[in-house]
Amino acid sequence: MIIVRTFGEVRAAAHSAVSLVPTMGYLHEGHMSLIGAASQTGDTTVVSLFVNPTQFGDSADFVAYPHNEARDAAIAEAAGCDIFFAPSADEVYPLGHRVTVSVGGVGDAMEGRFRHGHFEGVATVVAKLFAGVQPRRAFFGRKDAQQLAVVRTLRDGLRFPVEVIGMPTVREQDGLALSSRNTQIGKGVRREALSLSRALFSAADAIEQGERDSAAIAKIARSVAAATPQVEVEYLEVADSMSAAPIEEIDRDAFVAIAAKVGGVRLIDNIAVDAVTLATDRGIMLDKQSILYEED
Ligand code: AMP
Repeated sequence: MIIVRTFGEVRAAAHSAVSLVPTMGYLHEGHMSLIGAASQTGDTTVVSLFVNPTQFGDSADFVAYPHNEARDAAIAEAAGCDIFFAPSADEVYPLGHRVTVSVGGVGDAMEGRFRHGHFEGVATVVAKLFAGVQPRRAFFGRKDAQQLAVVRTLRDGLRFPVEVIGMPTVREQDGLALSSRNTQIGKGVRREALSLSRALFSAADAIEQGERDSAAIAKIARSVAAATPQVEVEYLEVADSMSAAPIEEIDRDAFVAIAAKVGGVRLIDNIAVDAVTLATDRGIMLDKQSILYEED
């Protein structure tokens, strides 16, 4: 594996078509599953590490985001990365924040309501990665379901010739969706954080028993979340997988999404639903403790 800092170096080092895995670092098994899938393609696997300032509304949140490049490089290499791309802010934003990309309605609901400008920041940085790295394939987690819809919209709207592949959500042993932010959850509220996955799994159970009505599904999930008062739910929605617009009933492929604050840490999670079979995809559970909690 080589470590490079510029788009030009990535293109010069890639000897075959590229599979790209964009990340903000502090890697865990969710990222590793993306990197593993990318490297299985036989393409040159490029992992980018860039904590993108423009997708953080709150600068305190940006500053608090965990960061350890040496740790990330070692994990990426073990997972199958060939080129580890860790650019500076100047490399990614050569003209400052003058040129941006917006994707219209797909970013408006859910995250868009609570994180103004977030998806413009995401779409802009992903467009730069697609333009500068020129991948044939790019891997994203379904954990960020609305982001995946934003990336597909960006790809279609700007005609990037890249295949966008969504990978299942990887969860800790107890069901908590893996996130670099999990390292910020205080020990005192770790158990309370399980309220998010518990609420979604109760929604999934109801859906698998035939419930298609979004209001009924949301009511069940909200009542489960409400049993944990330390968890402050921001939204709980049933949304169309492609457009990320809230829907009244599950008459197309959908996801049930939740965002909540637990001890000051904002977490998101979702489960996917197949409209035809009403089968739900709850992701993959780790069978041992995550590498997130290993000493640096
Ligand atoms: P991040 O570093 O959080 O920006 O995430 C980088 C990529 O990893 C995104 O495509 C995420 O959706 C994906 N990802 C993050 N957490 C998980 C997870 N628990 N399971 C699967 N993919 C994930």
